[in-house]
Amino acid sequence: MEDYRTKCIELLESRGVTVNDIADCARFLQADYHVDLKKEELLESVMSVLSKREVQNAIMTGIELDVAAEQGYMKDKDLAKILTRDEGLYGVDEVLAYGICNLYGSIALTNFGFIDKKKYGIIAKLNEDGKDTGTVNTFIDDIVGAIAASAASRFAHRWVK
Ligand code: MG
Repeated sequence: MEDYRTKCIELLESRGVTVNDIADCARFLQADYHVDLKKEELLESVMSVLSKREVQNAIMTGIELDVAAEQGYMKDKDLAKILTRDEGLYGVDEVLAYGICNLYGSIALTNFGFIDKKKYGIIAKLNEDGKDTGTVNTFIDDIVGAIAASAASRFAHRWVK
């Protein structure tokens, strides 16, 4: 089976997201528990999350849907419109992101809900960029939040050991 981690990092970068941005979100989620935590310390966990096949599948799927809606090649124009508007009741973007969090337990899930509400760092930027600009960031903001939440969960569990 192919390892799509490099491909997924490039896909994320093509949408303006670096692994450092995600590590910074993961650091933000752990900041209350570890004073002076550096994002570099979360980077290993981010890379580990990105090496999981289910995570890679979620990244490829979500980004493909965002880009298809954005560039006008999505066949279902109603769905394209929903994604372009990032309609609040759509919800499938969050469900895809849960798929990532589910691999990392309850801390990942609660962290995801928290950062989704707080919209920290690159997640806030993706959200802003997706508003009335023609850019569709409907799936990627949740995917990035879920990777950060999962990396924070992995870090927390390892700290206890
Ligand atoms: Mg979204």
